[in-house]
Amino acid sequence: SKEILRVNNLVTEFWGEDHPTKAVDEVSFHVNEGEVLGIVGESGCGKSVTSMSVMRLIPEQAGGVTGGEILFDGKDILSMGKKEFSKIVGKDLTMIFQEPLSSLNPLLTCGYQIVESIRYHEKIGKKEAWAKAEQLLEMVGIPLPEKRVKEYPHQLSGGMRQRVMIAMAIACNPKLLIADEPTTALDVTIQAQILDILKKLQRERNMAVMFITHDMGVIADISDRVIVMYAGNVVEEAPVRQFFRNPLHPYTKGLLKAIPRPDTKKERLYMIEGTVPGPEEQYKMKGCKFCDRCEYALPRCREERPGMKDMGDGQKTACWLYAKD
Ligand code: SF4
Ligand code: MG
Repeated sequence: SKEILRVNNLVTEFWGEDHPTKAVDEVSFHVNEGEVLGIVGESGCGKSVTSMSVMRLIPEQAGGVTGGEILFDGKDILSMGKKEFSKIVGKDLTMIFQEPLSSLNPLLTCGYQIVESIRYHEKIGKKEAWAKAEQLLEMVGIPLPEKRVKEYPHQLSGGMRQRVMIAMAIACNPKLLIADEPTTALDVTIQAQILDILKKLQRERNMAVMFITHDMGVIADISDRVIVMYAGNVVEEAPVRQFFRNPLHPYTKGLLKAIPRPDTKKERLYMIEGTVPGPEEQYKMKGCKFCDRCEYALPRCREERPGMKDMGDGQKTACWLYAKD
C-alpha cells in the first residue's frame, strides 16, 4: 500500500548552553495510508518530539530539525514555505494532544473554532460550516451538539474537550491524524470511550493514524504496526501481533514485561531498572543507548551503535544480539 508519511534519518536537536543535544537521533519510519502506527516508549524517548517535528511545532529558539527528511504524501514538509504548509496542516495532516486546553482557544466557543478551521480549508458558507460543526460534535459522541457549539472550552469536561479536539481534527477528512497520548490525562472509563471513537472514525474514514502512547493495552487495541523508541532512536519495528508474540529488542521485552495484569499487585509490577539517559548523558554515549539498563550488554554495545536490521516478516530491530557479522 501507499505511504502517507515517510520519515528518513530524522534528527531534531535542542540548542542547549554548550552544544546541541539530539532528542531525535537518526529516526526512520513510515505510515501507510489507512494504517494505525503505534509509537511506544517511556517519556523522554523522543516520541513527542518526533511528532512535533512532523507538525513543524518545535519552537525555533529552542531547537529544530537538523537532518533527514519528512515526506508527507510524497512532498517534503521541511522545505515547504509556511503558506504551503498551512494549507496541509489542519486539513490533510492534523494532531490531537494530551491536553486539549493547550490547543483550544479559551476565548472562542467550540463551534466557532471548528467553523474557522473548516472555513480556512474549504470553500463553504458560514451557515453550512456551523451545521457541519454540529454534525461533527454528534459524530464524536457529544450530546446536545446544538447547545455545545455555543459553549466555551472551560465549560466542558476533559473528556468532552478531547472530543471537541477530535471533531476539529477530523473536520476536513485528514489523510493522517497524529494522536499524542490523547487519553492519558483522562480517567479510565473516558479513555476507553475516546479510544472507541478514534477507532470507529479511523475505520469509517480509512484514515491513517500515528498513535503515541506508553500504554501497551492501547497499542494492542488500536495498532496495525508498532515502533518502539528509546532515547531518541527507533529500536524495534513490527506488525502488532509479532510485536506482542515475539519481541526482539531487550527494551521491548522489558516494556512488555512491565504490563500490569489483573492478577498482579501494582507494587510487584516489573520495572526495567534504571532510567532513560538524559540529553547530556546521551551526548557522551557512542554505543547502544540502552546499554546501562540491558542485561545482555556485550562489550561491543558500548563502543558501536547498532543500526536497524531486517529480521523478516516486517520486523526490524537495532541490537547487536541479532548481528551475524
Ligand atoms: Fe542490549 Fe547490546 Fe542490544 Fe543494546 S545492543 S539492547 S546493550 S544487547
Ligand atoms: Mg510525550
